[in-house]
Amino acid sequence: MPFVKYEDGLFTKNESLKNLYIPMLSSLVLCFFVVIINLASFPEKKIGHSWMENSGWIVDIIQWLILNFILWSFNRLTVNASLRRGINLGLHIWIISAAFDVMDEFIQQPRWVGYYIEDVFKLAGMLCVSIGIYFIVRYVNGKYADISIDSYRDELTSLPNRRYFRNILLELKNTDNYVFIIDIDFFKNINDKYGHDMGDEVLREFGNLLSSLHDGNVTASRIGGEEFAVIVTLPSQQDASVMAEKILSRTRDLIIRDEIRFTVSIGAGHKKEDETVENLLKRVDVALYEAKNRGKNRIEWAAE
Ligand code: GH3
Ligand code: MG
Ligand code: MG
Repeated sequence: MPFVKYEDGLFTKNESLKNLYIPMLSSLVLCFFVVIINLASFPEKKIGHSWMENSGWIVDIIQWLILNFILWSFNRLTVNASLRRGINLGLHIWIISAAFDVMDEFIQQPRWVGYYIEDVFKLAGMLCVSIGIYFIVRYVNGKYADISIDSYRDELTSLPNRRYFRNILLELKNTDNYVFIIDIDFFKNINDKYGHDMGDEVLREFGNLLSSLHDGNVTASRIGGEEFAVIVTLPSQQDASVMAEKILSRTRDLIIRDEIRFTVSIGAGHKKEDETVENLLKRVDVALYEAKNRGKNRIEWAAE
């Protein structure tokens, strides 16, 4: 696999043992104090061994174990520090409540302990954990949206990339759609004469020109080195021609760093009903080739 993990995400394995053992240790210490407080403050249940027949204590111990397991597994992940603190706080409070719940099976706790310690602590812990989970989900959604957009963006021009262009083409519904493939003329000469960086600058400026056309009916993308594509949804081929002419003329008027001027050639095509994307692109590519052969700086329409 050519990709090497280079960024710590929200959920990567926690390599720091300190961050794993401190919460576990503090949970055990707190529970130890709960046991001591219960034994020191309240009488034992004087019911012989009848609690052995009552399975409630098993459920309570399992609940305590599950909460500690959640604490352990959560702290095995590297999570943003403030989120980790919030969820750890919630889990600790919840675990204290669970420890009181376990002791309740062996110790004669007064009622207020059940109400004010067990229940209130449980609710407070659940609340902290829920808020933490809400923020984690929000953070992950935000990251996912950023990454999705990045995967559809061309880095140099910030226009949509080839993948996005293809997706839009595949999703086109009605037949009033036109596709332009635009190739910068003599681009190699620009690179040779002014250098690669200036070549990049030309691509960026041309990208800006195309993105100034973006609206609900026009989507421009960079689909290759000095090759761009525009999808337009307009009522007639004449309207589409006007749009293509506009791209030609605005490009002719563009002057970069007070000295570089360039032109583009455009292959244009109308997407036929039920035509495959491959076929449409093939036709438009042939038209672009024609535009180059017929002297560049012009538009050629693909044969239907
Ligand atoms: P034509 O008029 O027939 O289109 O010729 P051309 O010189 O524009 O096309 P050609 O295919 O011969 O050369 C395209 C050049 O574009 C070659 C390649 O090095 C350059 N190129 C491709 N991607 C980039 C890029 O991202 N930045 C820069 N600066 N140059 C690029
Ligand atoms: Mg070219
Ligand atoms: Mg080319």
